[in-house]
Amino acid sequence: MDLKISERAKLPTKYGDFLIQSFQENREYTKDHLVVFSQKLGNVPLVRLHSECLTGDVFGSLKCDCGTELEYAMKEIVKSKDGGMLIYLRQEGRGIGLFNKVNAYALQDKGRDTIEANLELGFPSDLRDYEIVGEIFRYFGIGEINLLTNNPLKIESIQKYVKVSRTSIIVGCNKHNKDYLQVKKDKMGHLL
Ligand SMILES: [Zn+2]
Repeated sequence: MDLKISERAKLPTKYGDFLIQSFQENREYTKDHLVVFSQKLGNVPLVRLHSECLTGDVFGSLKCDCGTELEYAMKEIVKSKDGGMLIYLRQEGRGIGLFNKVNAYALQDKGRDTIEANLELGFPSDLRDYEIVGEIFRYFGIGEINLLTNNPLKIESIQKYVKVSRTSIIVGCNKHNKDYLQVKKDKMGHLL
């Protein structure tokens, strides 16, 4: 993998003080991923893999739980005794990109669920790729993590890189994301 790693910088946030570093993946595309991490990392850091979701992370969309999960993860990392890291992956809309995600939302307005909408646009339900995550763990010398997730597929995808234990992520349900969460549970095996 053609990978460039930025310098490390301080990132004070409303949750606490972190460091930030960018990992630039250069393939047929260029993606600037981010790692936001505690100043001190213990043996088993708490890790959250967060895929970019502009609508949820920035605009406070209630169609998904990404924004709430992001905040929750930052708070939990600050509390974690072994510290932790948030790996922010630039793979918008389960990898289909922002433009296609908006088209998928339009199909959802017509009654399709999240998976049906992606399939109708010609995409698999999930195009996310976690190879970069293996490179990031190798760079930090991390061999074991506590992964903050409800997604068994994520655990499976990164078990080849590190030893993984799991901590559940608990976020609220609202009238806009109820169906979205139900599909995650019924069709994607999420442990809610
Ligand atoms: Zn989202």
